[in-house]
Amino acid sequence: MRSALAEARAAMESGDVPVGAVVLGPDGHVIATGRNERELTGDPTAHAEVIALRAAAERLRSWRLTGCTLVVTLEPCTMCAGAAVLARVDRIVYGAVDLKAGAVGSLWDVVRDRRLNHRPEVIAEILAEECGALLTEFFGRRRVR
Ligand SMILES: [Zn+2]
Repeated sequence: MRSALAEARAAMESGDVPVGAVVLGPDGHVIATGRNERELTGDPTAHAEVIALRAAAERLRSWRLTGCTLVVTLEPCTMCAGAAVLARVDRIVYGAVDLKAGAVGSLWDVVRDRRLNHRPEVIAEILAEECGALLTEFFGRRRVR
C-alpha cells in the first residue's frame, strides 16, 4: 500500500485525482504500478487499477493474473472492479472507502456478486486514513483555487 500511495502522490503532478495502484505477483513482489492518468492522457478509462492490471498482464504475458493481488488506494469503481474480476486476480486490497462510487462493497459489490464465476478476496481499509487524506487534501486545494 505504501507503493500505491507513492503512485497516488505522483498522479497529482499532472493534476490528476491522487489514486495509485500496484499489482503484486504470486510471490508478493510488485510486478506493476499504475496511477490515475485521466487528465494526463485524456483517457476516461485511465484509472490507476486499469493501468496497473494492463502493465501486469504485459509483464506476465498473460491476461490471466491468477495468484496476483491488486492493491489500490481508493475503493475501485464499477469499471475497475470489473477489470479485476476479468483479470482473475486472487485478491483486492484497498485503502479509502468510496461511498459515492465504490463497487467493492460500498455502493455496489461487483467482485462478490455470486452470479460471476470469479470472486476475488477483498481486504478493505488498509491505511485508509492516509489514502483518504491525500484525496481530501487534493480536493481541498482545488476548491481554494
Ligand atoms: Zn476505476
